[in-house]
Amino acid sequence: MNVKYLKKVGFGHKFLLQDTRYDVVNGIRRGIASYVRTMAIDKVLVYKNESVMPDEFLAHRLGLVPVRVDDFDEKTEFSMYLQKTGGVVKSGDIETNGMSEIPFKNVPIIKLNDKDSIELELVVKPGMGKDHVKWNPALVYYNNVPTIKQHKSVDKSVIDACPRHCLEIKASKVVLNDIYNCDVCKYCEIASNGAIEVVLDENSFVFTIEPYGNLSLEAIIKGLDEGFSKEFDDLEKQIKSIK
Ligand code: SF4
Repeated sequence: MNVKYLKKVGFGHKFLLQDTRYDVVNGIRRGIASYVRTMAIDKVLVYKNESVMPDEFLAHRLGLVPVRVDDFDEKTEFSMYLQKTGGVVKSGDIETNGMSEIPFKNVPIIKLNDKDSIELELVVKPGMGKDHVKWNPALVYYNNVPTIKQHKSVDKSVIDACPRHCLEIKASKVVLNDIYNCDVCKYCEIASNGAIEVVLDENSFVFTIEPYGNLSLEAIIKGLDEGFSKEFDDLEKQIKSIK
């Protein structure tokens, strides 16, 4: 498989994967979602909760707030604190320590009445997405590299049908001006009434990783390598133990 870094779009990093197959690409996607170790709020100790929300709901919301920790191992564990009276409680209100950072500070958690308070201890622990989605490091998705096959001439309505503005007409031919931005929705093909066809390369993929903020892209790739190595070592041991 050939891997090439293409570009950053918004929060996402786009890669071109060539000479590979669906199962391999999907395995990488699932590996990132399941076997990369990250840190997340795993336990919430509730000292005071005068909000309208039950403790369990509050804890569940807090668990999904990304926590960035760059240096940790399997045994790392520490606490952060959240205290507030009145107003909207946001992720940025969490008191972090020297080890942690909240990458997105505007995540709303709950709205408190003026005199209501919360006092919480948030215990942060390592884990993997296979155990709970709160440890998942990124949204990962892919599509085949597309090309346009043209059967008849088309008018501008076909070009305008593309929500991503990836099409143009050059010398009466429909061309993709940004292959890596096309998400293969096929709206253009539908609008063309059979005049064009979006053809997919079954062995080339645009692969996108959008980190949730709890790990950098480099740390996600390193974590995937470690996660897969451990899984394969475990598998090898189990196979060898079969008599
Ligand atoms: S498949 Fe969708 S995104 Fe791609 S060119 Fe056609 S309309 Fe645009």
